[in-house]
Amino acid sequence: MDVILVLNAGSSSLKFQIFAVGSKGPERQVKGQIDGIGVHPRFRAANAAGAVLIDERAEVKAIPDLPAATRALKDWLRALSGYSLQAVGHRVVHGGPDYSAPVCIDDIVLERLRALEALAPLHQPNNLAPIRLVRELAPDLPQVACFDTAFHRNHPAVADCYAIPRALHDEGVRRYGFHGLSYEYVSQRLSEVAPEIANGRVIVAHLGSGASMCALKARRSVDSTMGFTALDGLPMGTRPGQIDPGVVLYLIDQKGMTAAEVSSLLYQDSGLRGLSGVSNDMRELLACDDPRAAFAIDYFVQRCVMNIGGLAAAMDGVDALVFTAGIGENAPEIRARIASRLGWLGAALDPQANAAAATVISAPGSALRLMVVPTDEELMIARQTLALLPSSI
Ligand code: ADP
Repeated sequence: MDVILVLNAGSSSLKFQIFAVGSKGPERQVKGQIDGIGVHPRFRAANAAGAVLIDERAEVKAIPDLPAATRALKDWLRALSGYSLQAVGHRVVHGGPDYSAPVCIDDIVLERLRALEALAPLHQPNNLAPIRLVRELAPDLPQVACFDTAFHRNHPAVADCYAIPRALHDEGVRRYGFHGLSYEYVSQRLSEVAPEIANGRVIVAHLGSGASMCALKARRSVDSTMGFTALDGLPMGTRPGQIDPGVVLYLIDQKGMTAAEVSSLLYQDSGLRGLSGVSNDMRELLACDDPRAAFAIDYFVQRCVMNIGGLAAAMDGVDALVFTAGIGENAPEIRARIASRLGWLGAALDPQANAAAATVISAPGSALRLMVVPTDEELMIARQTLALLPSSI
């Protein structure tokens, strides 16, 4: 069976999926991850029916880093019979100002992606490490980079800028926007489940550990809440979302914090975790009776509602609000709280449909259509990879 391998490499985990390549498009066969890399490595995978194929812990010295994890994955894949690997599709967080579509990786592309590491120092080097190793191990195997930024690259110029000197924009300090693979998947899915909505004005709320929103007009991104980095916009599990840059100056000038300390505060210690002092996990906050947990949820809902208002204004109105990702798909209470604040946009929730996470969760007659559309970033990567392969595959 011809297959595509999809890799999503992070600082401590290598997530992977295998898709069969058929006439109906990619079909998922295997889903797995090696997590705890360098700390408590664990290699898990299951087939499409959920049957466990492997669940093993490894010594730290066996999987100390991402290249070692990639090698372990390669050895395991080789032992799986019946699969003929045709290509590898990679999630790459940053495509910079130039890449507005996925791209086949060669030496020139790899060098351009390396040059973008400064724009995403926490993610880009990890995304590129397995690409390099695969090129070493199998130089002829096609590899495709699929970007989180690409979907937003054609947004209007006013959505691309900060009000800072133009020279900084020209050197790459721009509002890139992220979660683009998720938004592109949701927009394609909307075309299937609600074509009349897909062609209108839609706000997609990707609410997970990382959270952002995107304004879609006729399936194209016209604005989003994330900007230069994935810190901006909504509060997240451990990131603050929108914050006055003066706070950062205060931390450096008055508190003597180093850039590394500020980075750690903004990426790891803020957001729901920082506000609640309890957890970065929405499920735990919802189950907790500590008033600080309730306050963190209040803040999250407030910022979601305010950003929906802003994105609706950016499109001169909004026809639908779509929830997706961990919180968006699984937390009816959060959806209900957000919807209850959108009466001014004509939103009316159907509580039963919401409890059941139906595709449409608004009541009949609601002027704003409320929907739940589960995202699938890996399937999007597989589709993009397949689209760039020679048609003989
Ligand atoms: P990421 O992919 O960015 O790591 P996810 O999309 O998996 O994140 O979302 C993780 C978030 O979703 C966590 O805050 C988690 O608590 C939340 N979540 C998952 N399931 C539920 C649930 N049933 N109720 C509330 N929150 C949930």
